Amino acid sequence: MRAVAVKPGIPNSAHLVEMPKPKIDEIADGRGVLVKVLRVGVDGTDKEINAAEYGAAPPGFDFLVIGHEGFGVVEEVGANVHELRPGDHVVATVRRPGHSIYDLIGTNDMTTDDTYFERGINLRHGYLSEHYVEDAEYVVKIPRGLTDVGVLLEPMTVVQKGVTQAYEIQRRLRVWKPKRAAVLGAGTIGLLATLVLRLRGIEVVTFGRNARPHLNSDLIEELGAKYVSTADVAVREYAEQNGAFDMIFEATGFSPIVFDAMQALAKNGVLVLSSVTGGDRKVEIPADKINLDFVLGNRVVVGTVNANREYFESGVKDLSVAVLEYGDWLSRLLTHRVKGLENYEKLFEYLTNGRDVIKVYCDVNGSM
Ligand code: BGC
Ligand code: ZN
Repeated sequence: MRAVAVKPGIPNSAHLVEMPKPKIDEIADGRGVLVKVLRVGVDGTDKEINAAEYGAAPPGFDFLVIGHEGFGVVEEVGANVHELRPGDHVVATVRRPGHSIYDLIGTNDMTTDDTYFERGINLRHGYLSEHYVEDAEYVVKIPRGLTDVGVLLEPMTVVQKGVTQAYEIQRRLRVWKPKRAAVLGAGTIGLLATLVLRLRGIEVVTFGRNARPHLNSDLIEELGAKYVSTADVAVREYAEQNGAFDMIFEATGFSPIVFDAMQALAKNGVLVLSSVTGGDRKVEIPADKINLDFVLGNRVVVGTVNANREYFESGVKDLSVAVLEYGDWLSRLLTHRVKGLENYEKLFEYLTNGRDVIKVYCDVNGSM
């Protein structure tokens, strides 16, 4: 079978590889699931992996099959898989367990190990291939009605984890009724975070760089949220003029905005950080003031990465409600389609230079 791989350490090394089709008996105890891949989404992480800034090959290989946002159909299951059947649509999780206590209890997204295993990212092959095999434990069923948008589940899980963690943390307050939230960033994660917070009945202001109107600001406004361009007003300034936020979800990829956001948080508020920023940017900040306000206002800031199975399952529910409530809103995020694995170069072209890009994805067999 064919797959798209990179040579970790070598920039722009994406290429097609030919590999043996995997077999279900590669997984122990009859728990294997063979999946035919239909679609794979790509994001900034894939761009960084192809730029050799990130990523490692599995032991015994000098290449890494990329792709961690998969969507496919089950072709075959092992004798002890009863929760899935051939023909089911599925998405597989990304991270695999290491050795810490958190890995042992099924929360490998919270690992304290230094080495982590992520399909398509670090030390495990990904999904940008014709087939993959996985343990049923990591394979999540997608309802029929989500066929068109199932490829958005993996990015959705990043939001699910961040928002759920915020609510978990806020149980410290005994009663927490967030009224106003800000989402920083209007890309795929920012759009999905806006959606999830609106589904929870929260008033949302989403900040993006570009002046409105454009597709992203239209999509945000259709959810009943407000779009604000940071070219007009900074987050802190906006909060000073219009009131501070009970929750802020950061998803811009621009780390300096974090310190601005810290100053836009209401008393008892929570700031969720989700951007993976590989650079070494430095900024000057009003340290005493930020510290004082955090202390006197019992404020919280929390980082969040990856997602375990629980967030894939809650993500399926929110995607379903979104389709019922907002119709084709989710499918309009799928802006850039590449047909066929052999056109992988286009994926990176769109990620780098595409106009009005929200989600770039590959229809693996060119037919979906
Ligand atoms: C993926 C996560 C992963 C993170 C860090 C993100 O792009 O969606 O699953 O944990 O990168 O590698
Ligand atoms: Zn990702």
